[in-house]
Amino acid sequence: MTANLLEFDLDGLAAFCERLGEKRFRATQLFRWIHQRGATEFDQMSDLAKSLRGKLATSAHVQGLPIISQHESADGTIKWLFDVGDGNAVEAVFIPEDDRGTLCISSQAGCAVGCRFCSTGHQGFSRNLTTGEIIAQLWFAEHFLRKHLNTPDRVISNVVMMGMGEPLQNYSALVPALKVMLDDHGYGLSRRRVTVSTSGVVPMIDRLGQDCPVALAVSLHAPNDTLRDNLVPLNKKYPLAELLESCNRYLAHAPRDFITFEYCMLDGVNDQPEHAQQLIALVQQHRRPGVWCKFNLIPFNPFPASGLLRSPMPRVTAFAKMLSDAGIVTTVRKTRGDDIDAACGQLAGDVKDRTQVVKRMAQQRIVMMAQVPPVVEVSKGA
Ligand code: SF4
Repeated sequence: MTANLLEFDLDGLAAFCERLGEKRFRATQLFRWIHQRGATEFDQMSDLAKSLRGKLATSAHVQGLPIISQHESADGTIKWLFDVGDGNAVEAVFIPEDDRGTLCISSQAGCAVGCRFCSTGHQGFSRNLTTGEIIAQLWFAEHFLRKHLNTPDRVISNVVMMGMGEPLQNYSALVPALKVMLDDHGYGLSRRRVTVSTSGVVPMIDRLGQDCPVALAVSLHAPNDTLRDNLVPLNKKYPLAELLESCNRYLAHAPRDFITFEYCMLDGVNDQPEHAQQLIALVQQHRRPGVWCKFNLIPFNPFPASGLLRSPMPRVTAFAKMLSDAGIVTTVRKTRGDDIDAACGQLAGDVKDRTQVVKRMAQQRIVMMAQVPPVVEVSKGA
């Protein structure tokens, strides 16, 4: 069996090249061909020695994921469903905006966390994706979009790990995938333009801060432990006080950043004025200098098994106003790609560049933001 080179970050590829008796710098050339140029055939890689191409042909391959379906919305949002074998599928969603192109990708087939408002959580857990399966979503989307839009330039500027799965429960595959995204010889994305979204796996938040401090989004959804235990069962293991402390520690590794708190607005469950007051108290309790967090309020996308309903928009707006009046940067998501049912879960995609949000904050506290909406069968990730 030959190795799929999408599985490797640059260090891994260098080690692979060394096993073939090649110098490490050959890995950089190979890495660029694969990720920057989308090459799949070693014969295409004209600056590699013929002898190396021969070795690669017998020991390696570059293989993406089979596509089950692709849907494009009138607003340009594109959703792909990828086959990851054994009846499992994961999805990725591309959301174009004037100043960026965001790709939302999956980290697991299914999810073991079981959040009440998330259709992925209701489907249960199948398996972790490999590094190659995570990167294959980006690799395919980037090179497909360049052809589709007829441009030689990079199309995807932001990646959000908000598709199916809890990324921090697939840590060993996640980190090499993040490194490929950030590597200048790979996708060259800025650390602040790659977001990992988590339901709150505290020990792994600490590890991520040390290993690869990309932008962090936390699925909060409740202002107190009683309610959060019910909505996000992982809270029983890592309650709010521990979670907020881990966010503080994370920011020590990324001092100019802030944490995005995702908050899915559920009718009559977590959308009352007292919930907003509790959130304000929670944030003030863990106050840091400057802007250390922002809230992203997400209108719930109802699905029958949840037994939950979307909060009416006036209530969402009133909730946002309470937070913003207390000095908390708050945004409300708008949906995208409704005509292709691009809503793949409840949280898919804080698609705004965080630095821009900070700038806008001075002008406008409540910002209506474009959103990566969830898609039907496959739901949002953490
Ligand atoms: S919201 Fe995220 S962590 Fe919770 S069940 Fe869905 S995919 Fe899993």
